[in-house]
Amino acid sequence: MIRLRKFRMVRVLIAMTVVPLALSGCVTNPVTGASEVGFVSTAQQIAIGEEQYGPAQQMQGGLYTVDPALTEYVSEVGRRVAAYSNIDLPYEFVVLNNSVPNAWALPGGKLAVNRGLLVELRNEAELAAVLGHEVVHAAARHGAKQIERGMLLQGALVVTAIGVQGSGLGNSVMQSAQLAASLVNTKYGRDAERESDYYGTRMLAQAGYDPYAAVTLQETFLKLSNGHEPSWMEGLLASHPPSAERVQNNRGLVETLRSEGFTNGEYGSDRYQAATRTIRRDRDAYANADDARRAFREGNTEEALELVEAALAAQSAEPTFHALRGDIRYEQERYDDAVINYDRAIERDDAFYGHYLGRGMSHVALKNHARAKADLNASVALLPTTIAYLELGKIAEAEGNLELASRYYQAAGQSEGPVGEEARARYTRLNRVN
Ligand SMILES: [Zn+2]
Repeated sequence: MIRLRKFRMVRVLIAMTVVPLALSGCVTNPVTGASEVGFVSTAQQIAIGEEQYGPAQQMQGGLYTVDPALTEYVSEVGRRVAAYSNIDLPYEFVVLNNSVPNAWALPGGKLAVNRGLLVELRNEAELAAVLGHEVVHAAARHGAKQIERGMLLQGALVVTAIGVQGSGLGNSVMQSAQLAASLVNTKYGRDAERESDYYGTRMLAQAGYDPYAAVTLQETFLKLSNGHEPSWMEGLLASHPPSAERVQNNRGLVETLRSEGFTNGEYGSDRYQAATRTIRRDRDAYANADDARRAFREGNTEEALELVEAALAAQSAEPTFHALRGDIRYEQERYDDAVINYDRAIERDDAFYGHYLGRGMSHVALKNHARAKADLNASVALLPTTIAYLELGKIAEAEGNLELASRYYQAAGQSEGPVGEEARARYTRLNRVN
């Protein structure tokens, strides 16, 4: 069955934004204590966060699985800081398998930090500064305010091909998952960023860390943004433009906190270095895999294969390296080989949509319809993509289930590009009145 659950949430949000005046009330900002106009309740924020967390993780590369102890560590640091957020949200922290230096928070306290950011930080206090900043975005209703202003829906309702990380098949997500994309990529604005810097740094100090880490973190960001490293520009720095002013504000706040008695806080450098040992050691392997993806996209299949072999030689436990080799074999029309590689990926991580999508598409090519259907269904349960819906439609049509096929085509046909076009053509043909 086509899952309609997420469509419903989007509709609830639309209903909320078309009648804002009737619903507007006063809410207290838990972090600042200020009274604000707003209508998205804490319970609604928690529901939105819980609903969108899964698809948001999937489209940002999925969970980092090679060293689960790292996620445990990040969660501990996150909980230690979030304890001072003044609101008891069901906070959750994950490490995403993504080389772009980035971190984000959904309403309701669902946070994520990318592997690519963790390798740039020097100590636990800097990690706590990142997480503290993001915790404030969630706790101080910054995402909720974007919803109240209708900022996210404009993005969510425009059906565009949103590139998805971690699958080489060039798919785009269904409309139902686009709210998650909007929430992850939203820009909160300067006032919200200042509020997050200010209260995030306070929480850092209250949690026992040296607040000066917020200054060194900003200095690193500023240095990296001056270097115009492309992956930095698309990640954290795009949504958080660093400036000398921000560094200066943080310095002033640290002085204030010192005068309030927050001195001798810890940095936790040794703990941080120990916890991030694996991702720092594997940094070159991930760089090779990222270069392989680029070469693959540009059609340099042989170069891509060489680079992914190098990545696998350094870290064979990484599921996405196996899946990438599967993507290359798929492109070379070596579908049996592709299946073997996706099998290895799924053995190592059975909760990432891209592995099932790749294996499902390979089974489509091999005409193993039953196995294709099972894999494509597993992929859309994790993240609905237009390509999976189109292929599920074709399978349903071949099985004679024309009503179901029509629904799949209709859903996939909401997207732009060749997949949407093919789905619309098939829908029209099935529903032609003779
Ligand atoms: Zn921010």
